[in-house]
Amino acid sequence: MSTTPTETRARSGVEVRLEELRKVYSGVTALDGLSLTIGQGELVALLGPSGCGKTTALRLVAGLEEANGGRVVIGGQDVTNLGANKRQIGMVFQAYSLFPHMTAAQNLEFGMQLHNVEVDERRKRARETPHANKYASQMSGGQQQRVALARALAIRPKVLLLDEPLSALDARVRARLRDEIRRVQLEVGITTLFVTHDQEEALAIADRVGVMNKGRIEQLGPPTAIYSRPATPFVAEFVGLTNRLNGNVRSGEVEVRGVRLPLVKPETADGPATALIRPEAVTLASDGDASAGPLVGTVIAVSFLGATSRVTVDLGDVIVLAQMPTSQASANPAGSRVRLTLRPDPVLIARDEKTAAEA
Ligand code: ATP
Repeated sequence: MSTTPTETRARSGVEVRLEELRKVYSGVTALDGLSLTIGQGELVALLGPSGCGKTTALRLVAGLEEANGGRVVIGGQDVTNLGANKRQIGMVFQAYSLFPHMTAAQNLEFGMQLHNVEVDERRKRARETPHANKYASQMSGGQQQRVALARALAIRPKVLLLDEPLSALDARVRARLRDEIRRVQLEVGITTLFVTHDQEEALAIADRVGVMNKGRIEQLGPPTAIYSRPATPFVAEFVGLTNRLNGNVRSGEVEVRGVRLPLVKPETADGPATALIRPEAVTLASDGDASAGPLVGTVIAVSFLGATSRVTVDLGDVIVLAQMPTSQASANPAGSRVRLTLRPDPVLIARDEKTAAEA
């Protein structure tokens, strides 16, 4: 009987738990009580701006740094005080880390030797690597990262850690290798932590994404939830594009330019606020009579993205981005007068200093 991918993943992976991890580097708090459980065979991406602590989290799981507090538990075993070489972890870094004086196969063999894999088994696994007889200098960046992934997996690790493994590659190779990493990860069913600052990459590859801010996870969830139901203004603005429109909260709704919209958090207090609205919640129609109104404006740019296009509209006092099928966008070239429509999706409210000052 065949097994489903989920069954395979659950069978082969181990659970990884980061519990209240703290790390301080000479006065700088890199991790401020980070907690995360990665399920068996799951791929979690840690996403966040530079300096938010992603790499530190990964290095603590690997055992390359010591925590100032908290625990790392792998497959039920507390490994917080266990040396890196005893944790059975495979890693791939951003910089190509292959030894230049060894072929791909020799790189794999060497890695396995360090983990005491038997010589016959080493040879067998090394032969299976892509580009087995090539040296790093004879491979493209993408090919080197494929070998680095094969080397990480050749030791049959319990956990795979990937630290920005694609960021040195050009866009097309990056997308191909991203899919390849996901395919291999699903096939092997290995529990994986993937660190990136690239939102598109995180949303495309992960079962769940943890958006990090200042040493903590601000929201953890499946890519669709992170994108369409951001829990905080930080997540909304870090993941995807967001329009900031002034509005007024009243009785569990927000009024934005004459339109009443539901709230993500209906308990939000009444008063002036900034509504965060995704471009795809904004559509537009040609305004035949070019009449004025709070949602009537002029198209100033149309950016072709493929099947969809992004249209930039000047409403006089604010610029709004709208995103829609290209066929619809191309009916409204730059200079057109248009009327915007706001889809009644639940809206997240930001109340920052600027909004308070405006109020
Ligand atoms: P990036 O994407 O830029 O690598 P990151 O989210 O991975 O960022 P970390 O590298 O984990 O962030 O760094 C978190 C914080 O800890 C930063 O303020 C950084 O300057 C600091 N930091 C990291 N490593 C060290 C170190 N070895 N010594 C001192 N400070 C460090």
